[in-house]
Amino acid sequence: MNEQAAKDRVVETLDKFNAPVEVSFEFFPPGNAEMEATLWSSIQRLAPLRPRFVSVTYGADGSTRERTHNVVTRILNETSLTAVPHLTCVNASRDEVLDIARNYWSRGIRHLVALRGDPAPGTKFTARPDGFAYAVDLVKGLQTVGDFELSVAAYPETHPEAPSAQFDLDYLKAKIDAGATRAITQFFFDTDTYLRFRDRCVAAGIKASIVPGILPITRFPQMQRFAQRCGTAIPASLIERFAGIDDDAATRQMVSFAFALEQVQKLQAHGINEFHFYTLNRSELTFAICHAMGIRSAQEDEPPRAAAM
Ligand SMILES: Cc1cc2nc3c(=O)[nH]c(=O)nc-3n(C[C@H](O)[C@H](O)[C@H](O)COP(=O)(O)OP(=O)(O)OC[C@H]3O[C@@H](n4cnc5c(N)ncnc54)[C@H](O)[C@@H]3O)c2cc1C
Repeated sequence: MNEQAAKDRVVETLDKFNAPVEVSFEFFPPGNAEMEATLWSSIQRLAPLRPRFVSVTYGADGSTRERTHNVVTRILNETSLTAVPHLTCVNASRDEVLDIARNYWSRGIRHLVALRGDPAPGTKFTARPDGFAYAVDLVKGLQTVGDFELSVAAYPETHPEAPSAQFDLDYLKAKIDAGATRAITQFFFDTDTYLRFRDRCVAAGIKASIVPGILPITRFPQMQRFAQRCGTAIPASLIERFAGIDDDAATRQMVSFAFALEQVQKLQAHGINEFHFYTLNRSELTFAICHAMGIRSAQEDEPPRAAAM
């Protein structure tokens, strides 16, 4: 590396450390009225933190198409948040998927999370002959609809169906090369695994942000089931921290908070300044972690964070 390149690299690294922290929050479409009330009180609680965007998932097997749409509509109508719908290739033709995207575009949505998607639990994904087979195909297809900002998924511990980590990384790069500008990771608990993955992405020539997906643990057994399904390792030290507090909700919440805060602080120490929180439609832990990271609620007369910078 010559002297100028070395200087540029130092400046780039310092810029990263000085950049403001940005967060995004993920919600899922509620299944009943009670869950809907919880979701909306969470959105109201988290909105003043001025997330860069809030995303809304698309259920496995494309099962929440209408409900995803309804949540996105309500966010657009009732808040000043940037709503980002997830869109998947499962169980739909290319035309159907692109029609949904056209509808979003016509309503002013300019950012989507483009995914292959998960099939119904216990089944294997098979692409429809008239459908998109992989997220990379969806990324290409969406660009025929409009100049969307596109985020995609990334897997620090490798996607469970991929034959190797390198294979998976090659296809992540293909999604970025096809036009995605951000990858959001599957949740992870071993922060070093994420950091090694990010280094491998950089070495592979991926310049897009690899935004860590942070899952504040609300219920440990539920999290274990999620983790098993998506191949996320649970370190023995984490199991140890939660041992013996099954009936002690207050302590569990403090343990969860402390663990997630350690994760984000370690990531910040490595120059990461963009975080995506899997809120599971709850606000308490995500709000507390953001607060501890120095993110404060906007005063009512302040402009949105993006406009203020
Ligand atoms: C941030 C985030 C949000 C998510 N939101 C949702 C959601 O809302 N709804 C939902 O159903 N699921 C969601 N998921 C889960 C995701 O849909 C699953 O993990 C799914 O199994 C893979 O989706 P993908 O977009 O990563 O697929 P892809 O990038 O298409 O990869 C799928 C598999 O195929 C391989 N592959 C990719 N391209 C090719 C190719 N061209 N040829 C051969 N092999 C290839 C990859 O290595 C990988 O093993 C989300 C995941 C994350 C990380």
